[in-house]
Amino acid sequence: MSVRKSDTLLNHPIFRFMGPVRQRNILTGASGRAIALVLFLNIPCGSLHAAPEATLNGVGYIGLKSVAGRLGMTRKWIRPNRKMVLHSDWTRLEFESNERRITLNGIRVYLGYPIAARGSDLFVSESDFEIAMRPILTPQAFPKVPKLYRIVIDPGHGGKDPGTRSAGKIVFEKNLSLDISRRLRGQLAARGYAVSMTRDSDEFIELENRAAIANRLGADLFLSIHLNAVGTTSVAGIETYAFTPSGQSSTRNGNFRAGDNKSHPGNRNDPWNALVGYYVQRELVKSLEAPDRGLKRARWEVLKTLNCPGLLIETGFLTNPTEAGKMRSSGYREEVARAIANGVFRYQKTLNRIRGMTSVGAKGPGIVRRFPEELTAGGRFVRHAQDENGFSDHESSR
Ligand SMILES: [Zn+2]
Repeated sequence: MSVRKSDTLLNHPIFRFMGPVRQRNILTGASGRAIALVLFLNIPCGSLHAAPEATLNGVGYIGLKSVAGRLGMTRKWIRPNRKMVLHSDWTRLEFESNERRITLNGIRVYLGYPIAARGSDLFVSESDFEIAMRPILTPQAFPKVPKLYRIVIDPGHGGKDPGTRSAGKIVFEKNLSLDISRRLRGQLAARGYAVSMTRDSDEFIELENRAAIANRLGADLFLSIHLNAVGTTSVAGIETYAFTPSGQSSTRNGNFRAGDNKSHPGNRNDPWNALVGYYVQRELVKSLEAPDRGLKRARWEVLKTLNCPGLLIETGFLTNPTEAGKMRSSGYREEVARAIANGVFRYQKTLNRIRGMTSVGAKGPGIVRRFPEELTAGGRFVRHAQDENGFSDHESSR
């Protein structure tokens, strides 16, 4: 593991990115269903910056006692020295020693570093507090709140790249991803968003072209739609991927690597990637009643050069007979699309609250513009979605 002292963390892009904290007056009240539309916390953000209280393998950690104090939450052991919960009226965070993830209002959120037990407290790495937790809990602390109008949907695979398939080759990923994407386009367009797709037919598009298309269109959000696969039939559920923050390792990687410190264009939206990823994962899991495999991190090629927030969404496992069977139903695919759209709406509402605006997404911003078809032109080479390890997106469940 590389040496990562706390002073070098202060030079981390996220710290530089955050700049002075400005937002204070943020709505935190619940509206609508009690399932916590709002979980972000109304606290003075200037008090949130945490100084490391412990160092583990060169990584700065802060105690949950401090975290609870800064977030105005109550701390309670569930299992002494092993499991702890922080809770407030609307938010519940669960931490377990040695786990590289937390549970945030019932949804798994993966971390860059494991939770550590020291003395009479559990500790979370300073970088995870800043990068994985705060964008969801206190998004008002981050500047450059993105607008949300143009959404580019990226149906995974296509043409000579079929993606994964169900047993007996009954359903193929490239067809399902396109169908779900079209349904999602309908759901989002009906709410007034300007929606484009990287492909709208069974054509092949190079991975790097997909982000380039979104950038050329001036997208405010990019959603890459996929189906998952693994070498066993028992694994099922939903995974949502946000681009791995600079200075952290991807979820499937154990140890920190030198390349993990590199910053990519996709890292400029680290806070918003986490925020929209959380909402989309939550809506998918709740709506579909599917197993929650978490908000994960990977340096997917399709997210690497994005100028806007983006996600790669694994909507189910075609290697699982039950999920593959459900995916054969158009009604289920519509539910998948609706859940993703609902996640986008939740994200929109939070952005609106941060800006103190009235809703844009709910009423629709106006005329939905169409974009030139030539921007969806295909490419030449067959390559699956892949991350910095060269893994395809179908190996994500290992
Ligand atoms: Zn895929």
